[in-house]
Amino acid sequence: MKDISINYGHLCYECDPDIYPKGKPIFNDLGAKKDEKTGKWVCSDCITERINKGRIKRLGINHPDVQGFIKVEERKVLKHNDAARRLNEISGQYLMKYRRNKYTGSMPLSTC
Ligand SMILES: [Zn+2]
Repeated sequence: MKDISINYGHLCYECDPDIYPKGKPIFNDLGAKKDEKTGKWVCSDCITERINKGRIKRLGINHPDVQGFIKVEERKVLKHNDAARRLNEISGQYLMKYRRNKYTGSMPLSTC
């Protein structure tokens, strides 16, 4: 049995600093791990990202498995960016930052 409370009070500093300038609080994240090298905690999202980046290096960007998780990320970023554009257009201000696909660096936006 894993003790959930061991996660409590840790921060992940690998998450996007635009969204979490002071680190993302790790809460009830059973996939979070302590990095033995740095002694810092890393959330499960960032661990997945590390693994996926390793797969890109190993398999190459065009491998079907790699394309699979890149597309998942692309859809997620696209949804965020479309919402950001709507909000920014309605408000007339730059309230919400656009995001990039962390694997390819592309910045998807729906064409309307
Ligand atoms: Zn993280």
